[in-house]
Amino acid sequence: MKLSSYHKLMGDEVHFVKGCVASFRETTWDRIYVSTLFTFFWSATMQTVKYYLRAVRSPENLIVGGVMATLLQSDIEKATGVRVLPGLLDRPGILDSDSTVVVDGLIPDYQILESIEYEYPVRDAYIAYATRGCPNRCGFCAVNKIEPTFRHYCPLPRQVKGIEDVYGPKQDLILLDNNVLASRSFKRIIGDIRHLGFERGATLNGRMRRVDFNQGVDARKLTDKKMALLATTAIRPLRIAFDHISMRDLYVSRVRLAAKHEVLNLSNYVLYNYTDTPSDFYQRLRINCELNEELGTQIYSFPMKYIPLTARNRSHVGPNWNRKLIRGVQCILLATRGMVSPRLEFFEAAFGRTPEEFETIALMPNEYIIHRRLHENNGAAEWVDIFHSLTKPQRRVLYDIHADGRVTEAHYKRTTSPRFRRLLEHYIEADRIEAARRT
Ligand code: SF4
Repeated sequence: MKLSSYHKLMGDEVHFVKGCVASFRETTWDRIYVSTLFTFFWSATMQTVKYYLRAVRSPENLIVGGVMATLLQSDIEKATGVRVLPGLLDRPGILDSDSTVVVDGLIPDYQILESIEYEYPVRDAYIAYATRGCPNRCGFCAVNKIEPTFRHYCPLPRQVKGIEDVYGPKQDLILLDNNVLASRSFKRIIGDIRHLGFERGATLNGRMRRVDFNQGVDARKLTDKKMALLATTAIRPLRIAFDHISMRDLYVSRVRLAAKHEVLNLSNYVLYNYTDTPSDFYQRLRINCELNEELGTQIYSFPMKYIPLTARNRSHVGPNWNRKLIRGVQCILLATRGMVSPRLEFFEAAFGRTPEEFETIALMPNEYIIHRRLHENNGAAEWVDIFHSLTKPQRRVLYDIHADGRVTEAHYKRTTSPRFRRLLEHYIEADRIEAARRT
């Protein structure tokens, strides 16, 4: 959106497309920018870059930026020969040596979002930053590579007024800060938010306004004083990360703090497939439901699968997980339409009542997890009975099979125990049902 503002400022015509669009490849453009995100989108991104190469006069005129461009700069250059710009456009002259404009400081061009059919949820929100970067260096996070310097204060009034002057008032305020609580100017930032019309209970056109620190806040830095300040704004939801069970006491104390200040709508990214175990993952989800029952909060959990920073696909399996358990989590979420219920009874129905029950569910044939009701007494019950009767060595064999991927006829034929064979048969039959459903 800021790139569009930059070129419109120079009187250029700007078009925005999502993915590979044939009609746009037939024109020769002065410049094409490809904005990248996660490195695990490597194949699709390379395909897109190569697709548009023939729509510019020289590869130099196709510029790739964004997260993947920062993390895999030389790989992209080698693979495509295009110009790759890592990091932020936060100095003049990065795009054009004779330009004095700092692209990152421009007001985003909301108009370009209207040029495609996809409805971006941020259309009716001011998108801004109160800080940039993060002083921390968490191993699973790319922020310090993209924005290595932490800026404690970026004036919100200038950004919000700038958007309002061109596009009129917006309903919500979405702040893309990575670690606002680390800012020395936190009190001033909260004051800015309130003065901009986003104080607690604020409305616009009869609707509640909303402030969302979209990337979450750091539980370690959430003191009583800072929570009291946050509570004076229209924050909804308050996002607090709960990345590992070792943070349990800290996390729970921070949720209690939020409840004390009557901030009850919370949201929680729950990292898994990192150094955690399935049991640790289950417990973190469960703690949120238990806190909801006790404190009257509404904490929505969003499981977030860990993928190494420079991985080119999503196949990574954490040391305490296997492919089937990861697929099992995805199947549970498919059954619940992507939602982890904030209510304990619904959570237990989906994820089980104990960590052991969760692991049993996640190991079931995928079809039995997704269509649980349908198979409850038609396959799943028998599978569970056999699974519980497995000896330790048999369980190990099952885990080894799952570590390889799907259960196949070959695994079945190699097995001599009739009960173990029957267990494997369930996977093969369920796969057939799943395949038939897809056709
Ligand atoms: S605190 Fe958050 S933003 Fe900062 S490095 Fe860690 S995960 Fe990244």
